[in-house]
Amino acid sequence: MPGSDRMDRLDIAAVAPHPDDLEIICGGTLAKLVKQGYRVGIFDLTTGEPTPRGTEEMRAREAEKARQILGVQVRVNVRLPNRVLMDSPEARFKLATELRRYRPTVVITAAGRTPAASPDHHQGHLIAEASRFYSQLTKWNERFDGTEPYRVPHLVYAPFPTDAEQRNWHSTFVVDISDTIEQKLEAIRAYESQFDAQRFERVQHFVKSANGMNGFRCGFLYGELFALPTPIGTENLFQLATGGNSNLLAPPPVLVPGQDHPPMN
Ligand SMILES: [Zn+2]
Repeated sequence: MPGSDRMDRLDIAAVAPHPDDLEIICGGTLAKLVKQGYRVGIFDLTTGEPTPRGTEEMRAREAEKARQILGVQVRVNVRLPNRVLMDSPEARFKLATELRRYRPTVVITAAGRTPAASPDHHQGHLIAEASRFYSQLTKWNERFDGTEPYRVPHLVYAPFPTDAEQRNWHSTFVVDISDTIEQKLEAIRAYESQFDAQRFERVQHFVKSANGMNGFRCGFLYGELFALPTPIGTENLFQLATGGNSNLLAPPPVLVPGQDHPPMN
């Protein structure tokens, strides 16, 4: 894929079943990570086709355009089957092979069951978790295209905003995307086959509402919600409670002291 660089390892590998899933869930954070100097890769498990509205060629063009808008360095299509995506040994081998090639420090996976949307979403979550485990396995290099074992140190969940268990995620945190929300919306708009003008207006409303609510709870204009598979460990409660910002006098950016009540947490 043009612009992709297969030589260097990645800081972050983000995984989801369909091109456009990650843009909608956490495109603002991916763009922000790139701005912060990290090497980010998107791994689409399927082409997203067939759909009622697109073709494989259109979707590939749109995914590449969205990659460029977000500034993400690498985008790989793992070419597992859309609509019938299932967690299976073969699916795990394929994604784990990419993890062994790119050796990311953090894997972000789209996560959760979406009862009103594609069942691929839940299967993709399972495949990503299992592939992270498979990636480290020894004596099986032939199953991973001859790549060497690699252990991915960190896993982060990016819950679908419509996830059935959203309120049960633990160790959640919100990334401030106030400075990348426009980039995120442009990246979603790149999927013209899926979102014509009318549908884009609806998805934009939904994304801004969800990100606005998540952001508000942490004092940001817009935020994206994440979760961890384990409790958050810290040696410094003060730093954790202040979000790494030791200047407690700084008000949250969207609130006016004396006029607004800061969100309680
Ligand atoms: Zn999807």
